[in-house]
Amino acid sequence: MPTLKIHNPATGALIDERPADDAASVALKADAARAAQPSWAATPLRERLAAIQRFRAAIVAEIDTLATTLTQEVGKPIGQARNELNGLLPRIDFFLAQTEAAIADETVFDEGGMRERIGHVPLGVVANISAWNYPYFVGCNVIVPALLTGNTVLYKPSEFAALSGLHIARLLHGAGVPPAAMQTLIGGGEVGAALLNQRLDGLFFTGSHATGVKIAQALAPKLVKLQLELGGKDPSYVRADADPLAAAESLADGAMYNTGQSCCSVERIYVHESLHDAFVEHFVATVKGLKVGDPLATDTTIGAITRAPQLAVLDAQVADAKAKGAKLLCGGHRLPGPGNWYAPSVFTDVNHTMELMREESFGPIIGIQKVRGDDEAVALMNDTRYGLTAGVYTKDEAKARALLARVNAGSVYWNCCDRVSPRLPWSGYGDSGIGLTLSTHGIQTFTRPKAWHLRSP
Ligand code: NAD
Repeated sequence: MPTLKIHNPATGALIDERPADDAASVALKADAARAAQPSWAATPLRERLAAIQRFRAAIVAEIDTLATTLTQEVGKPIGQARNELNGLLPRIDFFLAQTEAAIADETVFDEGGMRERIGHVPLGVVANISAWNYPYFVGCNVIVPALLTGNTVLYKPSEFAALSGLHIARLLHGAGVPPAAMQTLIGGGEVGAALLNQRLDGLFFTGSHATGVKIAQALAPKLVKLQLELGGKDPSYVRADADPLAAAESLADGAMYNTGQSCCSVERIYVHESLHDAFVEHFVATVKGLKVGDPLATDTTIGAITRAPQLAVLDAQVADAKAKGAKLLCGGHRLPGPGNWYAPSVFTDVNHTMELMREESFGPIIGIQKVRGDDEAVALMNDTRYGLTAGVYTKDEAKARALLARVNAGSVYWNCCDRVSPRLPWSGYGDSGIGLTLSTHGIQTFTRPKAWHLRSP
């Protein structure tokens, strides 16, 4: 039986070892999920809702343990681990409140004895292959609405967040979701690849663009419903009329929160030349005020880099930016181990020839580019293959809305950043993905429509 070794990225220490799946166990679990699906779908919605309500209560009851495990396995500061768990609760509440209406049958025509209705049928067996950076968010964005709408779930948490994934499954089972309806697959990419060989009715993926493409290629001949939530290179623009200090504080948080390892981290900043220097001065002061250190300490704001190979990506972006003339204002190097550490890093005098402004950094580094006006800023924001989020800081709402309407991104922000709402669809344009989670659309996406043509005799 293979095992998965789990290391703390902040110390390098081995913290746990868990039995992992292989091709044979993946096939058995997929068969069990298939067999369990009709009875789970036939379970009255109120019972499925009650199970998720108990799952929510179990999270609240165990929040300290869950947050500590999350911090130990991904290296995020403990305060941010707690924020993730607390932030999960309103998402669950949204799904609990909205599922019944979102999947209710709808009569769309009723005339002369002819009725037309739209029904919503569960997809069947859905797989969720997940990322590690917000395991509770990205896991539950799929698992909770999938279960509520009558699907059974094959959940492969990231190998870097497997303990949190196992907690999610344990709490769901304790809340009354049958083990066969919610199966967890433990292991790395090979286990994800084995999952793609099973008969699936939907594949919901959160992770890198490179893996997303591999999954799309593997599933193409099978015609499986596919959703991909991928990376980004999210820009923000500070207009000439913005408050540079408030914008600097907001954007420093957006760039550095979760140690820059958020899909919607701010990754590029454009600032009008008239307030560039004031903005940069306050931005750097804010970043220097962040506290790098033991992720279990409550005052830590910058934790470890979860995956060791990302350090080389950050080194390469820093070296490339420096070689092309960028000015380094702080950081720009690894910090001593044990564990994986990178200093919060800020560059100015950057441009789009640099990897730093083109490829996802997924770490605590940021480039700030001076612009002359709105058109240049919009052109630069759109000069990317990604399209997850984008923001504008300005006093003028009408101007912000006009500019953001021109930006190719699934979520747009006026005077804010790095924000996700359960009420709004979360979707990437371009290489940031296909499909969506959250909002009522993110409930219906776990169903297929059924068209009823009903003629009364
Ligand atoms: P990753 O692509 O390395 O891994 C994601 C998952 O895919 C893991 O569970 C992994 O084991 C699995 N996997 C790897 N190879 C596979 C294969 N060949 N077949 C099937 N499964 C395979 O990504 P990651 O490092 O876990 O996550 C970071 C990325 O996720 C970043 O790019 C980030 O922007 C993105 N992300 C996006 C969102 C979003 O909502 N758009 C949210 C969180 C993270």
